[in-house]
Amino acid sequence: MQPIVLGRPTINGAKLTVPVDPGAARQWFRDDAFRVEYSNLDGLADLDPAVLVVPALGNILTLAYALGIPIEVDRVDAAYAAAADRLAETFGAMYPRFDVKGFELRGERVGPVAPVTVTVKTDPALLLFSGGADSSSSLIEHRREVRALVTVWGADVRLTDQTLWDQLCSVVRDSELTADRRLIVARANLQDLIDGPALTRKFESGFIDGTWWGSVQHGLALTSVTVPAATALGLSRVLIAGSDFGGLDLPWGSSPRTDNQIRWSGGQVEHDQADLSRADKITKVIAPYVRGGGRLNLAICYQPGRGPDGLNCGRCEKCQQTITQLLLAGIAPDAVGLPISPQSLAAGRRALTRGFWHGDDGHRAAWRRLQLDVPATLTGPCAVPYIRAHLEWFRTAKIVIGTSDAAPRWHRVVLGVQRLGARTLSWLPLQFRKWCSRRVARLLGEG
Ligand SMILES: [Zn+2]
Repeated sequence: MQPIVLGRPTINGAKLTVPVDPGAARQWFRDDAFRVEYSNLDGLADLDPAVLVVPALGNILTLAYALGIPIEVDRVDAAYAAAADRLAETFGAMYPRFDVKGFELRGERVGPVAPVTVTVKTDPALLLFSGGADSSSSLIEHRREVRALVTVWGADVRLTDQTLWDQLCSVVRDSELTADRRLIVARANLQDLIDGPALTRKFESGFIDGTWWGSVQHGLALTSVTVPAATALGLSRVLIAGSDFGGLDLPWGSSPRTDNQIRWSGGQVEHDQADLSRADKITKVIAPYVRGGGRLNLAICYQPGRGPDGLNCGRCEKCQQTITQLLLAGIAPDAVGLPISPQSLAAGRRALTRGFWHGDDGHRAAWRRLQLDVPATLTGPCAVPYIRAHLEWFRTAKIVIGTSDAAPRWHRVVLGVQRLGARTLSWLPLQFRKWCSRRVARLLGEG
C-alpha cells in the first residue's frame, strides 16, 4: 500500500513544519503539513530532524495503525520508533478492527533504541497542562519536579476559538501554582490535520466517548508534541495526567498501557496518578492544597463557549459532577472557578432525573458512588441552605442517565446532517478544502 510520507522537518523561528504526502490515506487528511508553533521555547533549530519529526508522527501513527498503512520518514529517533512498533500491537489488541499488520515505520532509525538515562521519580519533568482537575492534581503532587508546563492549543480548544484560548491562558498564567515554571504553548493542527470525524464514523462502534480524538488519538498526539520541548530543555520525563474510568481498563486514547510505552532517546512519558479516581484527586490532592491556603482556578468544562464569565458553565454534567465532588471534599466550588447558584443546582436536578445526560454503566456508577459519599451531617460549604437542600435531595435521588445511543431525536438529526456534510466535503479536492478552511478561519478572525 502506498505509504504516508513525512517530509523533512523545517524550523522557522519557533514554528515547526513537517510536510505530509498522505499516499493511500489521502481521503483521511484535511491538510498537507503538520504544523506546530511553540511559544517561550528556544533551541528548536539545534535539534536533530529525527526528533523534530516526532510530533507529526505522534499525530498520525494511530491513523496508520487503524488503516494498516506504512509511514515513511527520512530519519527518526530509534527509541521513539521502537515505541511506535510496540504501540501498534497495543492499539491492535485494544481495537481488533484496526488493521495493524499493514503498519510499518520506514526510515533511518537514529540513536539508541532505549532512553539513554533511566529516570527516577525525583527527576525534573515537563507536564502537559490543561488547567483541568486531572492536570492540576498532577501539578500539585509533582510541584517540586515540574519545571515546564506545555499547554496545547488545537486539542480541546479549537484553533479558531481565540476568546476561549485567551481565557484559558489567563487562568494558566495567573495561578500561583504555575509561577516560576516555564509556560510553553504549543499551537498545533492536531485536530485539523486528519479527518477525526470521518475516522469516528468508520470505527465508532468500539469508542466509549464516540470520538476518534478521545478514544484513540489524543494521548500519543499530545505527548509527542512535547518531545522537542523536553529535548530542548533537557527534561527526561513527560507527565500526562490520567483519566478516571472507575478502575476499569477500558480502551481509551491515553492510558498506562499506551502512554507508559512512549519513549525517545532522551526520556519517556509517564501516565500520572493512574491509581487515583477523579474524586480521589479532588479529595486527596486538590482539597488539601486549597485548605492549606493554595489558590487554584480550574478549567474543566467542555461546553462550547463555557459560559459568559469564565471557563466553566456550571451546568453541564462535568461541571455538576465536579461541583458535587468539591462540595463533598469541603471546598466551595466558586472558590476554584466553578459557578454555583440555586438556579444551576435546580438545572442539575432536572438533568439528573429526566435522563438529559447520557453514558454507560461506569458513568452511572460514578454518580452512585457520589451519592453514597454524601455524609449524614452537612457542614462547611454544604451547610449553605440551598446547597444543603440540594445534597439532601441528591443523597437518595433516583438518578437517570440515558444510554449512549438514546440521544434525543433532534440531536440525531443534527449528527446526520453533520455526517452528510463531512462526507460530501471529503469528495472535494484537497486544495479546494484548504481554501475553504482558510476562508472560514479568516471569517472567524483567526486571520
Ligand atoms: Zn460545564
